[in-house]
Amino acid sequence: MRDRNLWNHSCAEQFDAPILDADLTADLLIIGGGFTGCSAALEAEKQGAKVVLIEARTIGFGGSGRNVGLVNAGLWLPPDTVCQRMGQAAGERLNTTLAEAPDAVFSLIDEHGIQCEAIRNGTLHCAHSKGGLDDLITRYEQQLRRGAPVQLLDAAQTAQATGTDVYYGALQDMRAGTLQPLGYVRGLARAAAQAGTQIFENSSVMQLGFSGDWLARCKSGSVRAKSLILATNAYHTGFRGAESVRMTPVNFFQLATPPLPASLLNEILGQHQGCWDTGLVMTSFRKDKAGRFILGAMGLPDRMGIHENWARRAMARLFPGLKDQSFEFFWSGRIGMSVDYIAKIQRLGERGYSAFGFSGRGIGPGTVIGRSLARAVLNGDETALPIAPIDAYQDKLRVAKGLWIEAGARAIHFTGAR
Ligand SMILES: Cc1cc2nc3c(=O)[nH]c(=O)nc-3n(C[C@H](O)[C@H](O)[C@H](O)COP(=O)(O)OP(=O)(O)OC[C@H]3O[C@@H](n4cnc5c(N)ncnc54)[C@H](O)[C@@H]3O)c2cc1C
Repeated sequence: MRDRNLWNHSCAEQFDAPILDADLTADLLIIGGGFTGCSAALEAEKQGAKVVLIEARTIGFGGSGRNVGLVNAGLWLPPDTVCQRMGQAAGERLNTTLAEAPDAVFSLIDEHGIQCEAIRNGTLHCAHSKGGLDDLITRYEQQLRRGAPVQLLDAAQTAQATGTDVYYGALQDMRAGTLQPLGYVRGLARAAAQAGTQIFENSSVMQLGFSGDWLARCKSGSVRAKSLILATNAYHTGFRGAESVRMTPVNFFQLATPPLPASLLNEILGQHQGCWDTGLVMTSFRKDKAGRFILGAMGLPDRMGIHENWARRAMARLFPGLKDQSFEFFWSGRIGMSVDYIAKIQRLGERGYSAFGFSGRGIGPGTVIGRSLARAVLNGDETALPIAPIDAYQDKLRVAKGLWIEAGARAIHFTGAR
């Protein structure tokens, strides 16, 4: 099936910017036009800075315009694990910041009138097995201890909420919701541009250096700035001064049906909640505003159609009423996994930072980390950052791990849902 991204098709926010073809100066240069870069730009404008944002392709070309659109309150990891990996105080600080991240996202949407199909009806983490349910119970207890508005649904309640009876139960989180991700990132870019940010698209940074100021060169222009935020995450193109992507690449694909017939619309996800499951090779499903059913899973679309054929079987298993339903859209994206599944902030030099490794949780985290990075870099104060910056980052096994994950996804999808 040809690559066709639903979010490009259904995006109500339009955004266009020129190519950089001049030599500019700024207080803050941002490289990368996803959630992190656009949120940073918007915040920097609030701080009164002169901002230039450079995007290699178009706003939302990376993970921000390809994702599932689940606005979650936290990371993949349960909150206690975050504390074990980061230390109690640092972990709890990040947990608290990310618990409030959906508030930040939905208030920006309201404040700037961003048209992105935002719905805040909670999300459902669904147990695909008894072991999966045990995992959800642990997560539930940890979230409850932190006062989160979560509820553990039994199998019957889950079936009622989702319209499928294949799950053992689900963890419902009412802080969370769904949105049209490309609409959200374009809306952030529009708001930043309206506030004064000069945004350039189709302008790939080819060289970056520092000598008193940061200097980024593109093919037909350059930007000199006092401060820098590098926000290219898994879509980093690699250039002199910042050579390569350093995270484990994990691919995730999605397929979307045409709008469902009225007879199925209320039966399947009647409350429009976004869902994902506890499977090792995770599956996601949700609907969009037009009533399309969207199914996603880990995997890189392959010529043999392993993932696509699995998706047809999986959809029919979840919702027998969709057995003969065709797919109209099919697209994929690259997730940047960090070594410990916790996002990183790295110092690049004087007044320069990079944020990366969102590990599949970037809508809320990218928004709040971008915002706090803008404050930190402009005020010269790192203490308010939700993650302590590091000076170096390495994952030597990243290529092997990426291949291993893809091989596992293919093996599971080849045999699964039969
Ligand atoms: C398929 C998929 C599903 C996901 N689902 C979810 C979800 O449901 N919920 C959630 O919270 N998160 C999800 N994520 C994660 C989330 O989408 C990412 O963490 C987030 O988009 C990262 O945002 P970013 O701004 O840091 O990077 P990106 O959005 O990737 O933006 C980086 C930008 O940098 C640009 N760039 C690269 N190199 C250069 C250069 N040399 N010069 C100029 N620009 C450059 C790229 O073109 C790109 O547009 C998912 C990710 C994927 C891929």
